[in-house]
Formats: sequence, structure tokens, C-alpha cells
Amino acid sequence: MNTCTYCDSDLSSYDPVSVERGSIDTDGERRREGQFCNYACLSAHIDEEGLTEGACCRIEL
Ligand SMILES: [Zn+2]
Repeated sequence: MNTCTYCDSDLSSYDPVSVERGSIDTDGERRREGQFCNYACLSAHIDEEGLTEGACCRIEL
């Protein structure tokens, strides 16, 4: 059964948002980062895990 990575809701009643890590990794594998019942859960998960910390797309002025 698919459940939300953040709140553990059953995703069968949602249109889930799934997140995969892109082709950035050098090992060539796509990893599933998680799946969420909506963007609110995704956003909360990102905040909680600090996933935007150290992101490389920083704008240098
Ligand atoms: Zn959720």
C-alpha cells in the first residue's frame, strides 16, 4: 500500500505527488525520494528534513 512519506495517509484516495531524485547523482540511479498526498505534505517534509539546505542552485551576486 502506498502511503504519504510525511503523514502516512493512504494515497489511494489522492492523486499523489511523487518526488524522484533526478540525474544529478553520479551513480546513474534515480532514487525515489518520497510520495505525498499533496504539495502541502511535500512542502512540510522539505522543511522538516531541511532538504533545501545546501542546495546548489544558489544565486551568487
Ligand atoms: Zn500527506
